Amino acid sequence: MDDCLFCKIADGRIRGDMVYQDDKTVVFKDINPQAPTHLLVVPREHIPMVADMTERQSELVGRLFYVAAEVCRKGGISDYRLVINNGQGVGQTVFHVHLHVLAGRPFHWPPG
Ligand code: 5GP
Ligand code: ZN
Repeated sequence: MDDCLFCKIADGRIRGDMVYQDDKTVVFKDINPQAPTHLLVVPREHIPMVADMTERQSELVGRLFYVAAEVCRKGGISDYRLVINNGQGVGQTVFHVHLHVLAGRPFHWPPG
């Protein structure tokens, strides 16, 4: 996608603070962190939101959780919150699917 921010970060047109990359996935630091650790796990393929994914893409979206767990394990992080916002009404601002990884402070439940 030509005008998508996370497509641009994933393919290097815009610089991101990368912490992990593979052929299907990138992980970079959130520019406006909401916790001491705030990473975004992003598929290279453009999917606007969870509600748009096809069954074929479900493996890729599942992979985001695997990559999040691997990055946290390698970073010595055992407790973390994983969040995906689906839709403007719940706070989605970038319409390229991404998994937030938040850690390093207490988190409340239910979330606000
Ligand atoms: P959403 O609100 O869509 O669930 O999450 C979008 C996230 O992307 C926000 O947490 C926001 O801080 C982050 N973000 C927005 N623009 C940029 C950017 O240019 N670089 C990085 N690294 N993160 C960004
Ligand atoms: Zn995109």
